[in-house]
Amino acid sequence: MSARLPFAFRLVLGSELRLWAKADHTPVLWWRDDDARGPTGALEQLLNLARRHQAPVTLAAIAGPHLPLLVRRIERHPHVEIAVHGFTHQNRQPEGRGFGEIVETDEIDWVRNQLRATVMAFHRAGVSPSLFVPPWNNLQPQLLAALPDSPLRAISGFDQDAGVEDGVARLDTHLDVLRWKDGARFRGQWKFLIRMRRLLQQRRLTGQWEQPIGLLTHHLDHDHATWLFLERFLAAFPVKARADLMGDAAVEPEALRA
Ligand SMILES: [Zn+2]
Repeated sequence: MSARLPFAFRLVLGSELRLWAKADHTPVLWWRDDDARGPTGALEQLLNLARRHQAPVTLAAIAGPHLPLLVRRIERHPHVEIAVHGFTHQNRQPEGRGFGEIVETDEIDWVRNQLRATVMAFHRAGVSPSLFVPPWNNLQPQLLAALPDSPLRAISGFDQDAGVEDGVARLDTHLDVLRWKDGARFRGQWKFLIRMRRLLQQRRLTGQWEQPIGLLTHHLDHDHATWLFLERFLAAFPVKARADLMGDAAVEPEALRA
């Protein structure tokens, strides 16, 4: 692997990757892209990138008028999975409390109804997702309480280990290719790679070789530098399909009508 790694990758990750190779392990990576609402030029760029590298990608999509078009657009891409990205992706947090769609005072029943209506919208658009991705990775307890009553089987946030939380399977992302303060832009290869080295180190030192590392992208917000970096990253590191890491199955729409 290291022979064809770009210089910065070699410099930051080289010695860590040698330790992995020595122990006969390969990092387990997966890829989630957020905020798709419909087909766009940026989506085409993402699909082309994924196809060039044969990289499975989980597309966290927002229900809306263009969702059926989005579903149709990716139908012929077997390696692209659609996930539910919130109800309407609107921030409801009070000023100064960060971002999130579910607030502290929301009842579980309200969350359950929102979930049901949203999943129905995806089914009507022609897709049966099994993963929920809360907007801004803001994972409130009401959501975990309501999910088991929905056809969704899993959840994805940011920075936690994969596992089961309150009966819900969880697979997070860890490496955000963008930085968000004062407008989205490329995080920069050094910052990204140094964080990746830390994630690899943690896994090696605790013997959690199989603990996945999730790449997080937002195709609508990528600048040129971000696309370039992703090209290099995906050439260097193969990613696995989310379903292969979690093994959960999509539930048939019938489950909702019961
Ligand atoms: Zn989002």
